[in-house]
Amino acid sequence: MLHGERLLSDIRDIARGFAAQRRERQLRRELDPTDIATLKAAGLHLAAIPEAYGGYWQNARVSQRVQCQAIRLLAQGDPSLALVSSMHPGMMALWREPEAPSTGAAEWEAQRRAVFGSVVEGAWWGTITSEPGSGGDIARTKARAEPADGGYLITGEKHFGSGSGAMTHMVTTAVRQGADSPDWFFMDMRNAAWDGSNGLTLKTPWDAHGMAATNSHAFTFENYPATRLAWPGTWREVFEATGGVGSLSHTATFLGIIDAAMRHMREEFARRGQTPDTLRAFEKSEWTAAHREAALIYQCHEAAVSALERNGRARHEAALAKANIALLAESVMTRLCRISGGGAYGRSSPLGFWFEDVRAAGFLRPPWAIAAEGLYSMSWAGEPGALPL
Ligand SMILES: Cc1cc2nc3c(=O)[nH]c(=O)nc-3n(C[C@H](O)[C@H](O)[C@H](O)COP(=O)(O)OP(=O)(O)OC[C@H]3O[C@@H](n4cnc5c(N)ncnc54)[C@H](O)[C@@H]3O)c2cc1C
Repeated sequence: MLHGERLLSDIRDIARGFAAQRRERQLRRELDPTDIATLKAAGLHLAAIPEAYGGYWQNARVSQRVQCQAIRLLAQGDPSLALVSSMHPGMMALWREPEAPSTGAAEWEAQRRAVFGSVVEGAWWGTITSEPGSGGDIARTKARAEPADGGYLITGEKHFGSGSGAMTHMVTTAVRQGADSPDWFFMDMRNAAWDGSNGLTLKTPWDAHGMAATNSHAFTFENYPATRLAWPGTWREVFEATGGVGSLSHTATFLGIIDAAMRHMREEFARRGQTPDTLRAFEKSEWTAAHREAALIYQCHEAAVSALERNGRARHEAALAKANIALLAESVMTRLCRISGGGAYGRSSPLGFWFEDVRAAGFLRPPWAIAAEGLYSMSWAGEPGALPL
């Protein structure tokens, strides 16, 4: 069996097990690190690592679909865990996707080897880039990086560090003295205490309406050791060179939630003995609209993945997919909650949890306002998929 097929078959089994524990998992307020260990045992962390460095990734043309399907399956069992897991491939893309730079190629290659090697040895990477007050705009990073011992020390406020406590490494941004824009850095979190004793203080534990078990905590960093990304250009260049693959992994989480929610609704109809004729007019219309929007969600994502497979990059399509799916997923969940009835308001129904979970889609990088500005700029290049006359 090919790597990808085996991975998906294992992840499907794991996700089914998680789905069977849905009630208990939806009530969780914290990430269980043993879940990450389970995913590691299945090799999910290796799916983002190039084959030449010991992983399963062949290229964006063939491997992104497998990556997205794995996250999507996982989200059917546990959306918080799927969202946390979608950060790692996004971060690996920073080292995997850019072409070798014309200067500093040897340092870049040495760092790639070290980063990919860490994953082969069992590391799992996340990101804590966001800063309070930045609105998710990396250009507004305020954290500082001071040189020290051949590396850097990072000081500043960071929040939304999904996977905290289970991630071995975290990618972040900070501004070096005299620089007018931030750079990417990464930090080893393996021995990090959260009490301020080694430069890291837990400021606000994650306490959210949705994606409740992601440990997306806020921290204060004070002279915390970090390594600068060896990319010689700007933070934006390397980010844009990823071609949208990271964003597609995040988006796959929300497809999985819609898969599970639509299936749940069908099962609920069956449990109630409802048939196509017994729904009231309003319910029929809401259900048809949810069905239509779910299909659009799938098509938006498929369009972006196919564009990536054809062209090797899909920034515009991935941005469109993310923004459209964020809107549509909220709409689908609203409709399903209405059809299900007042019971959906209770915590014994999974729908209210998913309703809150999908709201995260629009806040993930780039969050709503920045996503809209990016799409506005890209819109001047035309509509992907339009047929030239
Ligand atoms: C479930 C979830 C998981 C996430 N996981 C991660 C992750 O793993 N890693 C990560 O790095 N990020 C993560 N994010 C964060 C995400 O990528 C965005 O950065 C974040 O949602 C942006 O937050 P915000 O819009 O509330 O911005 P905030 O910075 O809180 O700002 C809110 C709004 O107020 C404005 N504002 C705030 N302060 C001021 C001020 N002083 N003056 C003027 N305007 C101000 C901002 O411009 C913005 O419009 C996650 C988000 C969610 C919801």
